[in-house]
Amino acid sequence: MDNPDPIPGHAMTTPQPADATRYPRAESVDDFRHNLAAVRARIAAACGRAGRDAAGVRLLPVSKTVDEARIRNAYAAGCRELGENKVQEAQAKAEAMADLADLRWAVIGHLQTNKARAVARFAAEFQALDRLRLAAELDRRLQAEGRALDVLVQVNTSGEASKYGLAPDQVAAFVRELPAFQSLRVRGLMTLAALSEDSARVRACFVLLRGLRDRLREEAPDGIGMDELSMGMSGDFELAVEEGATIVRVGQAIFGARALPDSHYWPSGREPA
Ligand SMILES: *Cc1c(COP(=O)(O)O)cnc(C)c1O
Repeated sequence: MDNPDPIPGHAMTTPQPADATRYPRAESVDDFRHNLAAVRARIAAACGRAGRDAAGVRLLPVSKTVDEARIRNAYAAGCRELGENKVQEAQAKAEAMADLADLRWAVIGHLQTNKARAVARFAAEFQALDRLRLAAELDRRLQAEGRALDVLVQVNTSGEASKYGLAPDQVAAFVRELPAFQSLRVRGLMTLAALSEDSARVRACFVLLRGLRDRLREEAPDGIGMDELSMGMSGDFELAVEEGATIVRVGQAIFGARALPDSHYWPSGREPA
């Protein structure tokens, strides 16, 4: 699949050379078996340090920019769910691989309201709910399709303006409105930590999300689940597991280094909602 067009105003830079060596080869079925096992072992070790049961952490492999042939090899290696950041790319892949009937697609990136219909059609899960207008549109489209969708509410825990998601102090009021949308099965919260080498700063984002989840659990309306904490990616999933992640979204440690920098996937919010 072609890479999406560059976001206007975001200079393309070449990937850091470190990424090519930090992340594994990911072509053959054996490569994927190896990479999945390595990530699972690291999750298990992090669970060991935190006194957690590794069965309480779901590994969501993230396949953005990865082509169909390699995704099929990952499937052959045991992948049964995939996260994608951009809805068009996700939908095209879901259609191309509709023969893999037990493969579940999760949309994990910012969604424009006018693309809710596509998500309502093919996605099993949406992890970036951040506004009521989008909740209403998803619910309307899901009802038309006769489907339901697992959703997580995205929280901006880093305070970075470039990150989507609700401010932490807006989440409780937002969640109180969600029972109105009967096709949305709310499961918990999602965040992207600060992109930082400073692990204390990254960890603080995860601690904040867990604290918020724990408080919301007490007061969430009936029918609103607050068990899931989707946090942690290739660079920081072990910290996230130590701090309570129940879902980690891991791309490059399974699928190899991506050619484009992260700024390409997390633009500074200039799209219209
Ligand atoms: C790409 C992406 C990930 C995975 O990032 P990696 O560095 O490839 O592990 C996780 N979450 C979101 C929202 C993403 O877009």
